[in-house]
Amino acid sequence: MSPGALTMVADGLLELHGEQPRLIGTRCTACGSLYYPQALSCRNPGCREKTIQRAMLPTHGVLISYTVQRYQPPALFRIDDWKPYAIGLVDIGDGLEVMGMLSGFALDAIAIGSRVRLVVEPLYIDAARGPVLTYKFAPETET
Ligand SMILES: [Zn+2]
Repeated sequence: MSPGALTMVADGLLELHGEQPRLIGTRCTACGSLYYPQALSCRNPGCREKTIQRAMLPTHGVLISYTVQRYQPPALFRIDDWKPYAIGLVDIGDGLEVMGMLSGFALDAIAIGSRVRLVVEPLYIDAARGPVLTYKFAPETET
């Protein structure tokens, strides 16, 4: 997969490093606060310097909370083959928690504290653009 072949659900969410997706965040150059999605400036009230720079985020984290979406979200959110799915809150380190859909978990067997990894999967097929992708968090596979 080349980066040019990807159509993401929104711009600026991630990029591929080889086969590995990386979320694109921003980091304050003064206080080090991390933001995802990308922020325009630092929002730390104790920070006087507001300069931020692009930061590639860690690809693994720990599931710290989740909920199961049991009704189909209204328009603007688009998904093919809708069925209930889980949304997780993942601690990816450096004080940043990222929300995303979960993939590869049985909805009745999701465990807080699970190690997860970032994956990219199709959300829907657009007639003109082809597969439209989003990031998700899947169980980390031990090797
Ligand atoms: Zn700051």
